[in-house]
Amino acid sequence: MDGFKFKKSLGQNFLIDNNIIDKIMSNIVVDEDTLVIEIGAGSGNLTCNLASICKKLICFEIDGRLESTLKKRLACYSNVNLIMQDFLKADISTIIENCNLSKLVVVSNLPYYITTAIINKFIENNIFPDKFLLMMQLEVGNRITANVGTKNYNSLTVCLNYYYNINKLFVVKRTCFKPIPNVDSVVISMNKKIRKLSKDEEAIFLKLVRDSFRQKRKTLKNNLDSYDLNLMAIILNKLGKDLSVRAENLTIDDFVEISKFLFNH
Ligand code: SAM
Repeated sequence: MDGFKFKKSLGQNFLIDNNIIDKIMSNIVVDEDTLVIEIGAGSGNLTCNLASICKKLICFEIDGRLESTLKKRLACYSNVNLIMQDFLKADISTIIENCNLSKLVVVSNLPYYITTAIINKFIENNIFPDKFLLMMQLEVGNRITANVGTKNYNSLTVCLNYYYNINKLFVVKRTCFKPIPNVDSVVISMNKKIRKLSKDEEAIFLKLVRDSFRQKRKTLKNNLDSYDLNLMAIILNKLGKDLSVRAENLTIDDFVEISKFLFNH
């Protein structure tokens, strides 16, 4: 990798600390039925470790300059499918289906500029991996794991915590990367939960959460002015709240209950 010119625009901060790689690996459990997807293989520092423990690994890398390095490093593994493509443009449903494995684990030292786009791509394609193990910017990790009523709690927090049990595993200092980024990072695990809503109710839930947080400082009365506010007042009352509440003070269960109620009325 000598002389490689890292592209900031592609979020290229490669993990060079083997202790952190070991720590990430110790949090990944796979079996004979598990497909692992890695997004942003870089020069393959994590990729080789993943290839050595899993039945099948699919890794994506957008930067064509890394292809020969990756091919060389992965040549000894017959279970790896390297896809040199923008992950956001890939037909992941077909790729996953073709592997015919029942479990899915997604691992990534994420290119930070598209952290949420990558997670959203799975949800929008109705693909819910059994586990995500993701390195992300500490700030984004704090948002995803924020408690209700705090300033970091937002629509992404609510949506992701509806689908997943999310844990902050450990913070990673910026010096563990090359080149050194401007921010520290955190490794997050997200384990799939049993969902409490039907498909139709979920559609209401996702829209409700988005609409409720439309303008963060505004009350539900303001943000949900296109909803039947009488109905909203009834269900909020049942939850011990009223229309003057802000979205950041509603728990995930509150949003679930409101969605069920709206679906039935
Ligand atoms: N996994 C490597 C590691 O841990 O050292 C590299 C991680 S680096 C933070 C992110 C990688 O994602 C870079 O190699 C970058 O080129 C790649 N990348 C950026 N955008 C991408 C995209 N849309 N699709 C696939 N890979 C992407």
